Amino acid sequence: MTDSMYTPQDPTTQYPGPPFEKQQQSGPGDVHDMKPRPDHGEESYVGFGRLAGRKALVTGADSGIGRAVAIAFAREGADVALAYLPEEETQAKEVEKLVQDAGRTAVLIPGDLQDEAYNTELVEKTVEALGGLDVLALVAGVMPTVDSIDDFETETLDHVLKANIYSLFWTTKAAMKHLKPGASIITTSSIQGFVPSPSLAEYAVSKAGIANWTRAMAQQLAERGIRVNGVAPGPVWTPLQPAFVPPEKIESFGEEAAYGRPGQPAELAPPFVFLASQESSYVSGETIAVTGGTPTH
Ligand code: NAD
Ligand code: MG
Repeated sequence: MTDSMYTPQDPTTQYPGPPFEKQQQSGPGDVHDMKPRPDHGEESYVGFGRLAGRKALVTGADSGIGRAVAIAFAREGADVALAYLPEEETQAKEVEKLVQDAGRTAVLIPGDLQDEAYNTELVEKTVEALGGLDVLALVAGVMPTVDSIDDFETETLDHVLKANIYSLFWTTKAAMKHLKPGASIITTSSIQGFVPSPSLAEYAVSKAGIANWTRAMAQQLAERGIRVNGVAPGPVWTPLQPAFVPPEKIESFGEEAAYGRPGQPAELAPPFVFLASQESSYVSGETIAVTGGTPTH
């Protein structure tokens, strides 16, 4: 690990790689139960006011990539609404404190994104608490593994699509009356949306769908001056993995990346900041791959 995200060094050895200790969690997972502890930028993220005065909503903000995005947004000068599942309250409170330590306002809005009414409430409560909305960072997601088509269950696909895809439509529709020209919507796809693993068919379908939704919505919303982009992570060291993947696969987690190691959540935050900021004014409909050197197509 490094003092600052700007210290030049070999990226392949910047963070730990496999073998990792075998570990398993029950969903939705806790960053404190991960060995080693993930880096969400708590010590390393340096902001420059690139999002000064912006109001952002981040889903999945308690842990993993969403937590790193919330920390980065706050250090770049944004107020942040944090969405997460009710059972993740303790982790969300830590993120609230980190946002406040950056001198920004945080608001906690727990709930289940599979519920349409919560998605609308989430947007309304964000606007009420922060006085507006400029950036939607839609990071939350679920990743069940199903090894064989013989074990396919309708309710698994319903669950994945509700949490990963429907919520994009619901939150974005609710946000429309608040987003102004210059606003930015950022989705979270995956390398799985481009190069799927055999046991992740349901998830991979949702992640391909997210990249395509991003392309469609970018064209739809261009006339309103709203940009829509995505980030497609490769393997990232977050509780999603021990919560959904068998422990023996965690031992070698990230070894398939060209770097030979997984990414850390802190390494995913900068592309979200870039896409949220006016720096990326001519970028819309794009999904940026952050995969440690592995091609997505
Ligand atoms: P994570 O478990 O830390 O974050 C996922 C979050 O999604 C949870 O914290 C939870 O708050 C939220 N969530 C899940 N179901 C929800 C529901 N029904 N209602 C509300 N919130 C819900 O893991 P992460 O890896 O940081 O995941 C963030 C995103 O990154 C996900 O969309 C995931 O698919 C994507 N991603 C992760 C990896 C990886 O290797 N970790 C790789 C590619 C893409
Ligand atoms: Mg979590």
